[in-house]
Amino acid sequence: MSGTQRHDCVVIGGGPAGATAATVLAQHGRRVAVVERERFPRYHIGESLMPYTWFTFERIGVLDWFEQAACPQKFSVQFVSTSGKVSQPFYFFETIKHPCATTWQVRRSDFDRMLLDNARAKGVEVFQGAAVREVLMDGDRVAGVRADLGGGGSGTFRADAVIDASGRDAFLASRLGMKRRDPDLNKISIFTYYRGALRDPGLDAGATTVAYIPDKGWFWYIPLPDDIVSVGVVAEKDYLYRDTRDPEEIFAREAAECIWIEKHLRPGTRSEPVRVTGEFSYRAEEIGGNGFCLAGDAFSFLDPVFSTGLFMALKSGEMAADAVHAGLAGSGVSAATFEEYGRQMRWALDQFRQLVLSFYNERFSFREFIQAYPDLHPRLVDALVGNIFADLGPLFDALREFSGRGEELPRTSGRPAVGA
Ligand SMILES: Cc1cc2nc3c(=O)[nH]c(=O)nc-3n(C[C@H](O)[C@H](O)[C@H](O)COP(=O)(O)OP(=O)(O)OC[C@H]3O[C@@H](n4cnc5c(N)ncnc54)[C@H](O)[C@@H]3O)c2cc1C
Repeated sequence: MSGTQRHDCVVIGGGPAGATAATVLAQHGRRVAVVERERFPRYHIGESLMPYTWFTFERIGVLDWFEQAACPQKFSVQFVSTSGKVSQPFYFFETIKHPCATTWQVRRSDFDRMLLDNARAKGVEVFQGAAVREVLMDGDRVAGVRADLGGGGSGTFRADAVIDASGRDAFLASRLGMKRRDPDLNKISIFTYYRGALRDPGLDAGATTVAYIPDKGWFWYIPLPDDIVSVGVVAEKDYLYRDTRDPEEIFAREAAECIWIEKHLRPGTRSEPVRVTGEFSYRAEEIGGNGFCLAGDAFSFLDPVFSTGLFMALKSGEMAADAVHAGLAGSGVSAATFEEYGRQMRWALDQFRQLVLSFYNERFSFREFIQAYPDLHPRLVDALVGNIFADLGPLFDALREFSGRGEELPRTSGRPAVGA
């Protein structure tokens, strides 16, 4: 393909946010293109789903896939103290009486390809191996993109709306200089995969385990298909790099020091290289403007301790698509189109962020918190499953009080750019 294409909407990036946004728009009857830099399947980190992703999967028609793909079922999250003591797992079904109480652990190469294939099956035009390089402007409006198509070719995609779902590259937010790091959540992660590592018995075989390390950090342990486990450590850079910068050495040192992780990895063999990711949490100042909006990690990324990334990517893909559709059906896609979408995203992200800050607060413990506020147990599970639009006010007031953070959260941004 080369030359100029014309669509109602062009989506930058075909990850979970982009594929969902495009599918929903196609379901609304819109002509949509996804322009994706890679050729799928491609590797991606971020494998543990939250129960409330179920509703997006139902809407875009992919619920059947998880059983076919033999994804481990995730019934709970459990926390392990530095002394190796395991908390009572938070079983989602104890609070939620709905099929969404069972969720999954996914291998992202398969999961992301499935979502993009589903988008294509629903009528989306998918261009892979096509890297967006430039935004096209029409006066003060975003009016499309230009992409390198490989082999020296390039393509122009004109559209009434552009959704940026380019992930942590945050293509538009970076170009517009509106990506802001979260100074309170400045972590890095070092991670890899093991074959044949230990799985807990019965219902806990597919659980996500979060195991604390001594200095404000933690390991994730996520059982995947084919006897593979995803395992990684998240902490301050200075702490992890304290005596070496070699990722393999750091991973081995931290895994050996964490009692639960050491025991679970012992029977296994490392099956992939050790990888590093930095720049953990950020948010764009604006969520949209004339002719464009942001979705998924292209808008915001929050520390992954509660597995919120995919939920927010899928949910924001849905909400962005609905907003664009409404704009196209009404007076056009402008900053005002994204007012409500921005409000809801800021609300959800602020709630999750408060939970993450509590987790990292050394005065905070989930066990003690629940002992102090037993009535709030169901609300805490609501937050852990992604029921973020429930009334969680009392939970977050109690979290602030309990961890001694009486102060208000800093006012975070993400409003639509008025007249941008
Ligand atoms: C260490 C770590 C652990 C995590 N663990 C979890 C977890 O357990 N559970 C969870 O829910 N989340 C987790 N996450 C978060 C999760 O990975 C992300 O939130 C999720 O992938 C966001 O989806 P997305 O569609 O917004 O972006 P992505 O999945 O990154 O997709 C973006 C796509 O855009 C494409 N792209 C980028 N630039 C361009 C361009 N210029 N032109 C065309 N295409 C482009 C990319 O190739 C990519 O395919 C984790 C993240 C990290 C860093």
